[in-house]
Amino acid sequence: MNVFIINCGSSSLKYQLFNMLDESVLAKGLVERIGLDGAKLSHCPNNKDRYEIETEMPDHVKAIELVLAALVDEVHGVIDSMDKISAIGHRVVHGAEDFSGSVLINDKVMQSLIDNISLAPLHNPPNIMGIEACKKLMPSVPQVGVFDTAFHQTLPKHAYLYGIPYEFYQKYKVRKYGFHGTSHKYVAQRAAAMLGKPIEKLKIITCHLGNGASICAVDGGKSIETSMGFTPLEGLMMGTRSGDIDPAIVSFLMKKEGWSLEEVSNVLNKRSGVLGISGVSSDFRDIEIAAEKGNERAQLALDRFDYMVKKFIGSYVAAMNGVDAIVFTAGLGENSPETRYDVCKGLTYLGLEIDTDKNAVRGKEADITTDSSRVRVLVIPTNEELMIARETYEIVQ
Ligand code: ADP
Repeated sequence: MNVFIINCGSSSLKYQLFNMLDESVLAKGLVERIGLDGAKLSHCPNNKDRYEIETEMPDHVKAIELVLAALVDEVHGVIDSMDKISAIGHRVVHGAEDFSGSVLINDKVMQSLIDNISLAPLHNPPNIMGIEACKKLMPSVPQVGVFDTAFHQTLPKHAYLYGIPYEFYQKYKVRKYGFHGTSHKYVAQRAAAMLGKPIEKLKIITCHLGNGASICAVDGGKSIETSMGFTPLEGLMMGTRSGDIDPAIVSFLMKKEGWSLEEVSNVLNKRSGVLGISGVSSDFRDIEIAAEKGNERAQLALDRFDYMVKKFIGSYVAAMNGVDAIVFTAGLGENSPETRYDVCKGLTYLGLEIDTDKNAVRGKEADITTDSSRVRVLVIPTNEELMIARETYEIVQ
């Protein structure tokens, strides 16, 4: 059985086709600049040459049509007909309080997605477009929604409520939702498998450190706390997002700079974080290089990032009254021994000991602690696409 996974952005679309018998990837690819000049499909079939095509793609329907044509193409294809696609799994960013797990998409689910647009105005509309495009092109194939927020629906109320008048939770559902749920769930499950213990018996802290970054406390397999909030802006400082700040800074800067709400929101989302502090780049590789060359602000950005990760880990140990394993994942977590070392060297009070040789690993699963370490530290490459494929497969089964 083959499952087709789609992650739709406003002008882009990433896809993978999985054979669920062995969870192998038959093909994957990316469509960029949908609705713009220079739209391009890059299709990578397994064991065949990469194929690129630049052509007009006014909308997501046309983009998905081209992807499907590539999948069944005689030369570049990997299946002989579209009938070989048994289910479609969509990454959906916001499921609000309506979805605590993945669901088969029907009219009622679509209505909920539409109702929740105000909570994720940039992300849910393209996700909806992708679902509608697939419905048009493959009306008889079941579609499943896999939500970034769903894994965190197990947060207790005292963790997800903000200290603002309760009526705003009741009226507008203003609360912590958390994101990257598919990734946190995947790496927590892999951690339990690597440790050879049932996840129900483990306290795990998962650190998804990419351009967007969040941390999650997974107690007995359930998310009980996470660093992103009502939006992905809360929590850790990130590539370009500020993370936690005093909310009074918003009105202060608006007055001082004469900014509109959009302008201040743009600064906090796009010009802050390690980019804002370093003035160098939002990409951690560039910042690491600049810091090595003696750029003090680049070093400051790295120091503050690592410090925040360490503080969140400490607070999640408190939230769970202990920790068995800490997981590093995503671009930086998987590939930066320096970040992992800097974070962990301040956690020796937990009985945690990093093995510097083992920590030299990049992009591969590994336990990077000494044999005597009381807390395991694991590097686990995330695989959100596989997780979406598994959940889709389970639901249509
Ligand atoms: P996202 O999916 O949120 O865009 P990724 O998980 O791809 O992000 O992570 C991107 C970040 O990971 C970038 O800031 C990049 O610099 C960082 N990164 C990737 N490889 C390395 C590396 N070898 N060393 C340090 N940072 C890295």
